[in-house]
Amino acid sequence: MGIERYLDNAATTRPYERAIAAAQEAFSAYYNPSAVYKQAVEISKRIEEIRKKARASIGAKQGTILYTSGGTESINTALNHALRKGQSLVTTSYEHAATIQACEALERDGHRVHYVEPVDGRIRIEDIIACVDDTIGLVSVMHVNNEVGNIVDVQALGKAIKKKNPRILFHVDAVQSYLKLKIDVEAAMIDLMSISAHKIHGIKGTGALYVRHPERLRTLIHGGGQEQNLRSGTENVPGIFAFGAALEAGHEALERHTEHLQTLRARFLELLSASEIKDVVVNSPEDGAPHILNISFLGVPSEILLHSLEARGIMVSSGSACSAKKKASRTLEALGLPAEVRQSAIRISFGYWNREAELGDVIAEIESCVKQIRSITKYQRKKDLNV
Ligand code: PLP
Repeated sequence: MGIERYLDNAATTRPYERAIAAAQEAFSAYYNPSAVYKQAVEISKRIEEIRKKARASIGAKQGTILYTSGGTESINTALNHALRKGQSLVTTSYEHAATIQACEALERDGHRVHYVEPVDGRIRIEDIIACVDDTIGLVSVMHVNNEVGNIVDVQALGKAIKKKNPRILFHVDAVQSYLKLKIDVEAAMIDLMSISAHKIHGIKGTGALYVRHPERLRTLIHGGGQEQNLRSGTENVPGIFAFGAALEAGHEALERHTEHLQTLRARFLELLSASEIKDVVVNSPEDGAPHILNISFLGVPSEILLHSLEARGIMVSSGSACSAKKKASRTLEALGLPAEVRQSAIRISFGYWNREAELGDVIAEIESCVKQIRSITKYQRKKDLNV
């Protein structure tokens, strides 16, 4: 295999050197942050400094950051530990599996869940607000969809929810948007926000949950009282240190990184339309997230294209990494895309380490694979396909 081209940054990202160095530092300074000697107190102080930096990176003026094991745990905590008995929840039909599965479990426990459907590819704020009544305890939406990159205007949504009822908690799954788009939890009136370190060039097994009102969250894990008694257990110090290094780098360079991702995305589309590949459908909206492109090469089954590209050193995916082994994409279905488009969709996602110069080769390899597969399957565009 030749050069490795990693274009699956929505699944995970390669850690920054400084994130790896920070984790290594914690392996050497192995003390338990709850201990009382100087070395341990130093670790505990660093953990608190990182918490402050994480708060600052989202503009939080009140509330706290809870360290978790990742986006999935943060989302499950927000949904399970903020909702009270008898309360209902509003979410959308194209959330990440962490939200959908947690909601289905809540339904089994007797909570009512409203799933708002996208209209013309978008979640409409008015449709969410239409579901908000006195029984609603929580509204949960993903900021950036992990498969297609659609963005929900969380600022407008937060304001609309609070206008209707300020007691309702607003949770945002920001796993795909944190440090890609600017987020201000005060302006967007966000109460809970889920973050994952491995999506921002940190390491796996670490995440964060922003909590505006810790007193409204039930204890998640009982034990020694760490994390303000909400999530006990000795801290994942290497993961937290790496998260701190990654968020510091990402926050400092937010605008530059976003611009870099936007340039890659625009250049990729430019090269694609200049190529000889026909019958291509771009499923991501023009104003979508800067790092995600979902594209269908009609007549080319996603899995076959993925493996052909893999053989040429190119790593992309067919949708969410967590559900890569499941056939149907809930997101593409919720967007109402025809089966031909859904079955041939791949997700290309850019990251800090990608360079414009590598995109020409990637397009050339896609072109060659698509031609080869279409000639084997004797592809002919369906006349009645309206895309
Ligand atoms: N939410 C979204 C939008 C995601 O893309 C992912 C991961 O792909 C998650 C949640 C889960 O995050 P983690 O892998 O940190 O558990």
